[in-house]
Amino acid sequence: MNAVRCAAGFLAALMLLTPACYAVDIVPATATAAVETAAEEDWQLLLVNPWNKLPEEFTVELKKLPNGLQVDARIYDDLTAMLSDCRKAGLRPVVCSAYRPVETQTRLYNNKIARLQAAGYSREAAIRQAGRWVAVPGTSEHQTGLAVDLVASSYQVLDKKQEQTKEQKWLMEHCWEYGFILRYPSDKCGVTGIGYEPWHYRYVGKETAKAMQEAGLCLEEYLTALESPQETVHTKAR
Ligand SMILES: [Zn+2]
Repeated sequence: MNAVRCAAGFLAALMLLTPACYAVDIVPATATAAVETAAEEDWQLLLVNPWNKLPEEFTVELKKLPNGLQVDARIYDDLTAMLSDCRKAGLRPVVCSAYRPVETQTRLYNNKIARLQAAGYSREAAIRQAGRWVAVPGTSEHQTGLAVDLVASSYQVLDKKQEQTKEQKWLMEHCWEYGFILRYPSDKCGVTGIGYEPWHYRYVGKETAKAMQEAGLCLEEYLTALESPQETVHTKAR
């Protein structure tokens, strides 16, 4: 267990030292072992990020939403309940992205690299830049079926202004009640490795979502805290 705790502490220290988003190359593979342990035990805690690729043999049972997009069948009821209650509040949320097979993620990623090269980037620079905007195949939560991008029907652009819509304000306030978290908050990009996305919601289960909401932790911090007895998930994060 000591090795696991040590790895978790090392990862936490690295996270604190990471000054900005996307500084993803410095984390050694060994530092991810601790958080993988927790994720392996509970499907709701599956960690997929720039340092934790989805296993190639990953499979998921999907269920189709009314608009044809698909999610992990196990999150269907909570997702539709959240959207239904959001509509009851007089709002119009839209699921604009949900489950994405690896082929789709690869196509998006390669298209981004091609566009950057067409704009004058070298192949190497284009690959580096592409990873900042489109998740490298295998590292997108959309491949898990546990993540959805939600937008306001009146404003369907994926940019920072999305946070100003009434739909996002409602979702950010209430998502935890349905087991969802805003996965990439503005103040956690150095930990998540992903810039602020005020539209990307991830299912973690009601109990975990409530604990994360109360503690002010993102998923990486929460999983690290689970592995570190000296830290408590009930303490407000700095
Ligand atoms: Zn997303």
